[in-house]
Amino acid sequence: MSGLAGTAGLAGTQPPPAWCPPWGRQWLPVELKATCGGDKQSPVNIDRRQLQRDSGLGDIVFQGYDQAPPGTWRLANDGHTVMLSLASESASEHITISGGGLPGRYRALQLHFHWGSPVRNGSEHTLDGHQLPMELHIVHINVKYRTLAEAKGHPNGLAVLGFFFQVGLQGLMVLVGGGPPGTGDAVDLASTFRLSTLLPRTSRLSGYYRYQGSLTTPDCSEVVVWTVFEEPQLQAFVSTLHFPAAVTNNFRPPQPLRSRKVFASRAATASGGSPCRDRCQLLSPLLLLALLGPFSPTL
Ligand SMILES: [Zn+2]
Repeated sequence: MSGLAGTAGLAGTQPPPAWCPPWGRQWLPVELKATCGGDKQSPVNIDRRQLQRDSGLGDIVFQGYDQAPPGTWRLANDGHTVMLSLASESASEHITISGGGLPGRYRALQLHFHWGSPVRNGSEHTLDGHQLPMELHIVHINVKYRTLAEAKGHPNGLAVLGFFFQVGLQGLMVLVGGGPPGTGDAVDLASTFRLSTLLPRTSRLSGYYRYQGSLTTPDCSEVVVWTVFEEPQLQAFVSTLHFPAAVTNNFRPPQPLRSRKVFASRAATASGGSPCRDRCQLLSPLLLLALLGPFSPTL
């Protein structure tokens, strides 16, 4: 499905998409009706009793993830999430993923988070019906396409990596009240960092789930090859990023899987069980102040 095109007929024939208030309120009904009532929507619940093993889903090749590229990255608060733009003009600095059954090579565009509130978890995907505290999305574009608009015209146009985060053993969660960037604001990071610092350790990256889905915000384009990693990450790095306390519960709840299948990678767990074991907790109301050092306001 290509963006808004060809979806007008869905209006009135599909149930309205399920949004968790207050998130859905920030979009107009016409925006939600665009593609958001389609049959390949994200996120989904990953039911590990219903997975199909795919031995072709081996390790993903991460390139450029272990280097801090030169230049700056821009962090913007759009009132819904905090998004870190990873775009680079120079082809030699591209951060890419390939392999792992991905239909091509994909370049990192941006990353952002979904979270809950001090009293509830906020991941978008759920594992066996369990919502985890937080989820990181790293959005990549197929290198065949130059723009997001072009990529939205192709079912394999985007590849998003999803990483669950759970509260650390110390029970602390980093949410920042105040400080830049405010809604509508952007700041440039004074320096970039290795994206690998956001990821679980390498040995845990072999276990993931794969399915075909959509963007989880309007226009909900159904052009995303999703990879959701099994291993929740602790938030050791999170103090380097800002989370505006004013934004809470910025997740879309699971959408119907319909005729789709979720595939388990060669090394993933394809059976039931709590993803949290005994370590899963709700977010602590304790707010920690993030490190302000890496940030410098833009003009
Ligand atoms: Zn997202």
